[in-house]
Amino acid sequence: MSSHSYSVPDPSPRPRALVIGGSLGGLFAGNLLRSIGWDVDIFERSAHDLDSRGGGIVLQPDVVEALRRTGIDLSAISLGVPSEHRVVFRPDGSIRSRQYAPQTQTSWSLIYTTLRSAFGDAHYHQAKVLTRIEQDSAANKVTAHFADGTDEIGDLLIGADGGNSTVRQQLWPQQVPSYAGYLAWRGLVPEDEMPAAARESLHGDFGFANNTGSHILGYLVPGGNNDVRPGHRFYNWVWYRVADPDQLARIMTDRDGRQRGYSIPEGMLAEHWVKHVHEEARALLPPGFSAIVEATRQPFAQAIRDLASDQMVAGRVVILGDASAIPRPHTAASTSKAASNALDLADALSATPDNIDAALKNWEPRQIALGKALRRQGTQTGNYLLFQRPPAS
Ligand SMILES: Cc1cc2nc3c(=O)[nH]c(=O)nc-3n(C[C@H](O)[C@H](O)[C@H](O)COP(=O)(O)OP(=O)(O)OC[C@H]3O[C@@H](n4cnc5c(N)ncnc54)[C@H](O)[C@@H]3O)c2cc1C
Repeated sequence: MSSHSYSVPDPSPRPRALVIGGSLGGLFAGNLLRSIGWDVDIFERSAHDLDSRGGGIVLQPDVVEALRRTGIDLSAISLGVPSEHRVVFRPDGSIRSRQYAPQTQTSWSLIYTTLRSAFGDAHYHQAKVLTRIEQDSAANKVTAHFADGTDEIGDLLIGADGGNSTVRQQLWPQQVPSYAGYLAWRGLVPEDEMPAAARESLHGDFGFANNTGSHILGYLVPGGNNDVRPGHRFYNWVWYRVADPDQLARIMTDRDGRQRGYSIPEGMLAEHWVKHVHEEARALLPPGFSAIVEATRQPFAQAIRDLASDQMVAGRVVILGDASAIPRPHTAASTSKAASNALDLADALSATPDNIDAALKNWEPRQIALGKALRRQGTQTGNYLLFQRPPAS
């Protein structure tokens, strides 16, 4: 009897994704690609876990869907804090309108810690600063070079490295965010420290108030350690104010004299700007909002910028989340757009598992269209609210 030797073919190796940026966009992409069978490593510039003490986010369906497909048991966690009415105040504190519009507000920290613990530590690499990318189109490989002198090779590199993306700057230097002419002052106040005037008018609802060059909104969000119990939450407010580029540069110079560019984290705003925010609150805001702003010891700030990329794929490199498009916050869509980009990427890659290039080609147009639609919507809303410019017909 003759013997036959059979050679068993190697199972095809799992494709490997290198994700640059370990904030929400990177974690959505990392978890979702892993859920469709990819090996994923996330490389984050920061040396420690990210933290924003829970700035507010409106909870949108794409975020919930991305958490569900990551495998998170949604029945076991509280994702946010409900509000019932949308209430618009006049500057004197009287109510302009009150509408029943239930929705859920969550926090950046709650979504971040949930995604971060689902991804785990083994493939989440901190203190890794991407400096440069190289592509080998013959081998269909991409190499990421890091500031510490190390390299990593993958089949796909995902630039989820935010509004100042290094990936975007290298591949599409012409795609640059532009300043919208106003900034958001922001703050968080522990629920049990809400002054009476704020508690009476704002507590439990989604509140708004307009004035010249001024638009404020606020709502309750989860508190420290994602606590959603009444009494343990934060009141989160966001106050848009017109600021010319010179004033913006002065605001963005932190209390140590360091120029921060487009955002100042909690605790770093120079003392005279803290005073300025409190004084302006007294002059421009209805009593409830004025009281909550004045009760905020450490307001922080973020410049409003516009970006909607025309291209998001080059060979085996893609950009998503804020790296590709920055929607204005009035759309309440930055986090859900990052989730949507990542959900669609996982769908496209699993639809043509043997053809990554085709998947990326199929993925890109809808993402570009989404970024542009949100830019249109955000620009119209923001320009109307802050500059009283009617939408172009
Ligand atoms: C600390 C923090 C707090 C935030 N808080 C809020 C909030 O309260 N409310 C809200 O609506 N939005 C918040 N955002 C923004 C929000 O995360 C984004 O608008 C949206 O979710 C899309 O996120 P993103 O991951 O695309 O971009 P980002 O959240 O900006 O994340 C980009 C990540 O890439 C990393 N990175 C940048 N360059 C490099 C590099 N060269 N190499 C490696 N890593 C790099 C950054 O350190 C950062 O972690 C916050 C972002 C951060 C980083």
